[in-house]
Amino acid sequence: MLEELKEKVFQANLELPKRDLIKYTWGNVSQVDRESGLFVIKPSGVDYDVMTADDMVVCDFDGNVVEGNLRPSSDMPTHAVLYKTYPEIGGIVHTHSPWAASWAQSGLDVPAMGTTHADTFYGTVPCARFLSKEELDAGYEHETGNVIVETFTKRGLDPVAVPGILLQGHGPFTWGKDADDAVMHAVVLEEVCRMNAITRFLNPFAPELPQYVLDKHYLRKHGKNAYYGQK
Ligand SMILES: [Zn+2]
Repeated sequence: MLEELKEKVFQANLELPKRDLIKYTWGNVSQVDRESGLFVIKPSGVDYDVMTADDMVVCDFDGNVVEGNLRPSSDMPTHAVLYKTYPEIGGIVHTHSPWAASWAQSGLDVPAMGTTHADTFYGTVPCARFLSKEELDAGYEHETGNVIVETFTKRGLDPVAVPGILLQGHGPFTWGKDADDAVMHAVVLEEVCRMNAITRFLNPFAPELPQYVLDKHYLRKHGKNAYYGQK
């Protein structure tokens, strides 16, 4: 089932090493099929050199494997929580890309300091709290999904306008309308974290982007009156 989607998710996973976002198998990409209420995700710990589209695993929003010979990525329950909670999300990516992971390990939100950020993320990308030991013991990956949702709810953030988050001490999750879009957001977030770190190094007092510049850059690409690019 979902053979076309398996191919798409397989190809999107190959983008992670290609874009220098991961080493070994430290990452995963999934995409949902809203009609069937199922999503396709990378298998756990399979080398990218030998992985095929057939190795992709089909799961439901409660974290059950529906089809596949291999075990899904261990982060699969986090993906399930996000698909279940946010019907507007179509694809999800998790990596340990080094600049974003460094911000996550620093426990810092990623402020919008430049237009590279503002073209994709409408404001600060939050850093979620550590899980408690109780949460971790109750189901680490499932509770990780809940902490992401908690962070967005508490801060009143729209997951479409801010398509990503850092997990403290861990790394980034990004999402988008499909797997490719989510990969693109992972690339942008990594680049923005790198630029911000260098900016803070050069000038620890460098200001955030003024709100009107943030508005201009985000809304010209994403607002209802967007005019960036070709129709
Ligand atoms: Zn991870």
